[in-house]
Amino acid sequence: MSQVVISVVVPFYNEADNISAFFERVIPVLTSLTHHWEIIAIDDGSRDGTGDALQAVHRYYQNVRIIRFSRNFGKEAALSAGLARVQGKHVLLIDGDLQHPPEMLYEMLRLQDRGADMVYGVRESRRTEGPIRSRCSDMFYRIFSRTSDVAIPPNASDFRLLNDRVVRALNALPEQTRFMKGLYAWVGFSQQPVFYEVEARRNGKSKWSFLTLLGYAWNGLVSFSVVPLRVWSVVGMCIATLALLYAIWIGVTTIAFGRDVPGYATLAVAIFFLGGLQLLSIGILGEYIARIFTETKRRPLFVIEETTGFDPVRATLEQV
Ligand code: UDP
Ligand code: MG
Repeated sequence: MSQVVISVVVPFYNEADNISAFFERVIPVLTSLTHHWEIIAIDDGSRDGTGDALQAVHRYYQNVRIIRFSRNFGKEAALSAGLARVQGKHVLLIDGDLQHPPEMLYEMLRLQDRGADMVYGVRESRRTEGPIRSRCSDMFYRIFSRTSDVAIPPNASDFRLLNDRVVRALNALPEQTRFMKGLYAWVGFSQQPVFYEVEARRNGKSKWSFLTLLGYAWNGLVSFSVVPLRVWSVVGMCIATLALLYAIWIGVTTIAFGRDVPGYATLAVAIFFLGGLQLLSIGILGEYIARIFTETKRRPLFVIEETTGFDPVRATLEQV
């Protein structure tokens, strides 16, 4: 039986300048709660001194364990790798740039003791974000909740405290496209929000540009909703009905008034409009086929180059 009570999973990608500050702030919070804690730090293919800095921390604290990826696989893969190895009953997911205040753990644990399986952090304000970005993310949450079966609470972040059964449920999900925000909502259980102020990034800059965020949002929509696929059946049906009515109208007017001057404009508009619509719908089909393609390859979500601080027997079993 594992002794660990609280596990912390934290992804790091080129965060060398933030590492000492991060551990200096997180470890006191953990030790004030229990001595049976572990931190699983994932070095997501960093090219700066992140790996060395993490090793230095591990030399002082053996319960800081490290998973190093062979290249950058993305935050979602890093979180999945950490979640697969946690031992604690309470599992905290937190960013490594100190934008998530670790002291919130006290409040999160209180809510979990009162019965919440998952406590998720909700950003109180978006001071650190521009107006366009926050408008777009509002729109995303609205579209997402209208088109998919699960609703993700607006502004909920990856700053979360899960309990062991939520972790087991998440680990059981086999998909390759890991849109974590959607997966948290999908597993269900009782979920409670906790509000926090996003702090400014300590060092460095966010790895998400507007375009990567847009891609991320689209990925999320397509992973969780079939509405973009289905909508074309409705559009097709409406256009076919209109075309039928138009055909009847042409037939009737030809019989009643004889043949009209040929309608080039109508023809041209119809060809372009329908052509565009068909390309669009084929494109959407392609998006879903691309998802099927990725899923059927069944590649692992990440490749581990090295682990530090894990139980050697388990580590050997897991290594590829
Ligand atoms: N991160 C990661 N892999 C990536 C991008 C980011 O592990 O490919 C980590 C990053 O080091 C940080 C966390 O994920 O600890 C959040 O990243 P970031 O601060 O860039 O995102 P934001 O706070 O802007 O959402
Ligand atoms: Mg950040």
